[in-house]
Amino acid sequence: MTRNDYMTALSANLQAVLARIELACRRAGRSAKDVRLLAVSKTFPAAAVEALAQAGQHAFGENYVQEGCGKAEQLSALGLEWHFIGPLQSNKSRQVAQHFDWVHSIDRLKIAQRLSEQRAPHHAPLNVCIQVNVSGEASKSGVAPDAAMALACQVAELPRLHLRGLMAIPEPTPDASVLRSRFALLRTLRDALNDECGFGLDTLSMGMSSDLDLAIEEGSTLVRVGTAIFGTREYPTH
Ligand SMILES: *Cc1c(COP(=O)(O)O)cnc(C)c1O
Repeated sequence: MTRNDYMTALSANLQAVLARIELACRRAGRSAKDVRLLAVSKTFPAAAVEALAQAGQHAFGENYVQEGCGKAEQLSALGLEWHFIGPLQSNKSRQVAQHFDWVHSIDRLKIAQRLSEQRAPHHAPLNVCIQVNVSGEASKSGVAPDAAMALACQVAELPRLHLRGLMAIPEPTPDASVLRSRFALLRTLRDALNDECGFGLDTLSMGMSSDLDLAIEEGSTLVRVGTAIFGTREYPTH
């Protein structure tokens, strides 16, 4: 594929995903403006991000600290919005606090405290979501649903963070009714936090390439889409 063909393909994929979002919104009686698209660019080069930015995409998601910071730095002139969505170790929090606008994967207080301390005064507060383990023992990442409220209350107090909402990655399953129940659980939790704690959380980060339609029907406000935009990922062997 030539560079031009590649850019055309990415742009076509982007349009197809936006059309899917719009269709799901219409089915759910929601406005397409209420659902944001995060393009998950992990493992793909800065040139691919740049091509999508030219096609109008503004927000990009990364899972790996080194790789994500590299792209954010390289493309800083484009004024894109960078979201960290992967597991985060304490010793890498400083780089994330410096380079990203959002972190979706907060699952313990210590990481949140470090990010708040390390967020530079000249940057806007870091937008964060608490990652909730909505699949019980079938998945390891995220705080247990019954511990989410306590963590949210503590994170909301941190001065350099802006608590925006909740994020979840359900266990992979072909069973749509299971997925639906996982997404519904996250929505119920968000509603409870708003009703009982008055947080005004506006973000439900849920839905990926294979299940974004279901997630939108269950209230998602931000879908994280990699494969359907960039194609199949090939992981480098480290
Ligand atoms: C990789 C990843 C995605 C994108 O997954 P696709 O199935 O490729 O759309 C979304 N969210 C998280 C947290 C991821 O790690």
